[in-house]
Amino acid sequence: MKILFFSSKAYDVQFFNAANEKYGYELKFLEVPLNISTAMLAQGYEVVCMFVNDVVSADVLQELAQQGVKLLALRCAGCNNVDLKTAAELGIKVVRVPAYSPYSVAEHTIALILTLNRKTHRAYNRVKEGNFALNGLMGFDLHGKTVGLIGLGKIGLCTARILKGFGCKVLGYDIYEPTEAGTIGIEFTDLDTLYADSDIVSLHCPLTPQTYHIINEDTIFKMKKGVMLINTSRGALIDTQAVIEGLKKEQISYLGLDVYEEEAHLFFEDLSSKVIQDDVFMHVLSFNNVLITGHQAFFTSNALQNIADITLQNIHAFEQQYVLENEVKAS
Ligand code: NAD
Repeated sequence: MKILFFSSKAYDVQFFNAANEKYGYELKFLEVPLNISTAMLAQGYEVVCMFVNDVVSADVLQELAQQGVKLLALRCAGCNNVDLKTAAELGIKVVRVPAYSPYSVAEHTIALILTLNRKTHRAYNRVKEGNFALNGLMGFDLHGKTVGLIGLGKIGLCTARILKGFGCKVLGYDIYEPTEAGTIGIEFTDLDTLYADSDIVSLHCPLTPQTYHIINEDTIFKMKKGVMLINTSRGALIDTQAVIEGLKKEQISYLGLDVYEEEAHLFFEDLSSKVIQDDVFMHVLSFNNVLITGHQAFFTSNALQNIADITLQNIHAFEQQYVLENEVKAS
């Protein structure tokens, strides 16, 4: 079986080659993203493996189908960038990695909260320069604060468990109330109550038509003045322009982002010697109470190993014509 990887990095090559020792598949790694200009490279490959910012629209799928692709294997959880309806019409099956390490993303969420609060990123630079002054570094006790989690799936629940360890009150909202919520000590509530009562709001729901810009001008001003907002889920959950207004009006006092709605043109690349053309991104970045990481919440060795193992298991199941446990279909 020949598998073509798009948007590959050195760490993908390392972890997939190791996981492939068990299967012996022929793996070809391309650095280019999967899009309409690169889809024709899939000629002769039955399986194509893509990552989170590859956009697989109807025209890309048509090209892949023409090249003989039968399986699209996502090495990520979110499938918001794939036109699942067209894939089904063209007979291309789509599989994903629904869970590889909720701990990786939950722990990164906590890292953003703690860094924004205690300003360790600024303290690190000051101390390196021999500046031991504490002015501007004051934080607050996380203990006793109320944290509102939107989305109580694998990552949301894992984040809740960690926050309970800090002594936080955890409010949660989801379209379905998970059975574990009560045991963990999450107070399940409606969105308006969550916005009104939370000192920190953290997003853990997928990007869907219902959640697109769930954080907007209206919802930001339903939150407590001085709120901390964290997004480690998907960039387009947040209307970035509205968040800029919220920061300027000091409605939002802390913003932690691991994702950004236009990240596909920025993240995962070294642009340090280029001029970044995205004015909105540069504006958000300019606030000193904003901390942005480049979609690295998943990036632990444990997660990468699980991603490689589960992706190859998915492909093996397809090859053997087993039931595809991790298949995603248009709803
Ligand atoms: P999950 O499927 O286990 O949980 C998602 C939860 O969101 C579910 O409980 C679902 O019912 C809920 N939900 C769906 N629509 C909702 C809505 N309209 N309002 C409120 N809740 C809603 O997924 P997960 O593994 O917990 O991942 C959550 C998200 O984290 C993913 O969708 C993905 O976008 C993001 N993610 C980010 C990274 C990263 O590196 N930054 C890595 C993995 C996942």
